[in-house]
Order: sequence, then structure tokens, then C-alpha cells
Amino acid sequence: MSAWSEPGSRAGEAEPAAAVRVRDLRVELGGSSILAGVDLTVAVGEWVTVIGPNGAGKSTLLRAVGGLLTGAGEVALFGTPIRALRRRDRARVVATVAQSPVVPAGMSVFDYVLLGRTPYIPPLGRESAADLAAVHDVLDGLDLGGFGRRELATLSGGERQRVFLARALAQGATLLLLDEPTSALDIGHQQEVLELVDQLRREHDLTVLATMHDLSIAGEYADRLVLLADGRVAAAGPPEEVLTEHLLGLHYRAHVRVIPGPHGPHVVPLRRR
Ligand code: ADP
Ligand code: MG
Repeated sequence: MSAWSEPGSRAGEAEPAAAVRVRDLRVELGGSSILAGVDLTVAVGEWVTVIGPNGAGKSTLLRAVGGLLTGAGEVALFGTPIRALRRRDRARVVATVAQSPVVPAGMSVFDYVLLGRTPYIPPLGRESAADLAAVHDVLDGLDLGGFGRRELATLSGGERQRVFLARALAQGATLLLLDEPTSALDIGHQQEVLELVDQLRREHDLTVLATMHDLSIAGEYADRLVLLADGRVAAAGPPEEVLTEHLLGLHYRAHVRVIPGPHGPHVVPLRRR
């Protein structure tokens, strides 16, 4: 699904702004170049997943898109440069689920998801009935209705991942940044979480920018993949174009077989000898 090809759009009209537009993004951390001129566009409603070996800069890229770190170059969300968005306004546009979110000790599931409403609560003010209702709605929608009083730290990995998503959804942002949302989960819970993200994306017209390590699963859910290597985009396009034995051998030093599947290529690791 792409906003560029909407039936109503005519030649000569301004193109609708992309959800994410990154141009020549350069980030240095600790004196090293981490992102060395990255371009990335995510159309409204699209799901793009960034893949790439450990240390390629995937998390750094998501942090820059979420406004959590600043680099040189251009990052714009829905046509507005991220530097021009104040923190509260930014939080209404983009919600991030970090690679390993900090779980506050002793916090209940309900209070954790309520943190997502922070951009709507006036400074020094209290949450409104509408904020509480929003949290209840999101918890019910994610089958977490019975978990509100549970301490977050006591949940299983899959339940906790749903709560992290719930917090992001309660934030009401239309762009979701998901950094390895399924790495800690077994194969069944991985599918459950990704199907849920896809369903929510359709129901709420969300745009998804994710990172993922499982390449077959990455290709099954994303409209497009971006292969990041050494802080640069090495390849980008539909999963069949990016998940090739040649590119994965080159950039991961992996020995794999790629087999066409109904929802994208399956990447099967093969032992070398
Ligand atoms: P990925 O998510 O692809 O595994 P990251 O974006 O987390 O990669 O990290 C990319 C590189 O940046 C790594 O080499 C990492 O060590 C380095 N890096 C990340 N954060 C910092 C930091 N605060 N200071 C110095 N180097 C960092
Ligand atoms: Mg990472």
C-alpha cells in the first residue's frame, strides 16, 4: 500500500508527504561514524523493516527517526522536519518500542500503559477520564484486559511485548518504530505479535518502521526491506530483491539457501561443511 499511488492523486498536485523521509543522515557516536549518509523513505501506511548484521546501525537509525538522537542531514516525519517538532508534539506523531525497554520496578501494567498518555496530560496535571478510557480500550484490544493490575515484571516475554505495544498505541501516534519487537519471543509468540501489529496497522492506518533479525519473518510482514551494512544502505526494495543468497553472503558472511515462499522468500542457513 503506498500513498503515492492513491487513485485521487493527479499529476501536478503536490505529492503527499511521506511518513518518514531521511536524507543523507550521518551520525557519529564516541568519535566513530555510525551512520554514513543514509537515505530512507517510508510511505504513509507502509511497513518497512531494516535488516543488517549486528552493529550495522539499525537501532541508531530508529533512534534518529524517533528524535531520540540528532545527526547531520535531514529527518522529516509527515513533511515536518523533526527538529521543528517539540517533544510533546513529536510524541503524538511517533511512538517507539525500544530493543530492550526498561521495565520500571513495581509498576502495574495499567500504569505503564498510562505512561503512553503523557503527551496529552498537562504539565503538573492529572490524567483525564478520556486518558483512562484510552488505556482501557488499548488493553482490551490487545487481550490484556485482565492484566491491568499485574506487575509488569511478572509477565511472560510475549505478554510483556504486548504491553510495550499497548503503551505505544495508547500514545495515539500514527508512526510506530519497533526495534526487534520479537527477538525475545518463541516462534508462536513472534507470529502472534507481528500479526497483531499488521492488524492494528490496517485498523488504525499506522505506518511501521521496524528492525528484525529473522530474515524470513522480516520478509513475510514488510512491504519493503532495507539492508543496512556498516552504516550505509546496501540494498532496499521488495523482500525478493533484498533477500538473495548473494547479498546475504556479502553482508552477513552467511551461507544460506533462499527458497521462494507464498509470502516472501524463506532464508535457510546451511552449515558450511
Ligand atoms: P544494530 O542495532 O544494527 O546492532 P546499533 O545502531 O545499536 O547497531 O550500533 C551501531 C554501532 O554503533 C555499533 O558498533 C555500536 O557499538 C555503536 N554505538 C552505539 N551506541 C554507541 C554510543 N553511545 N557510543 C559509541 N558507539 C555506539
Ligand atoms: Mg539494534
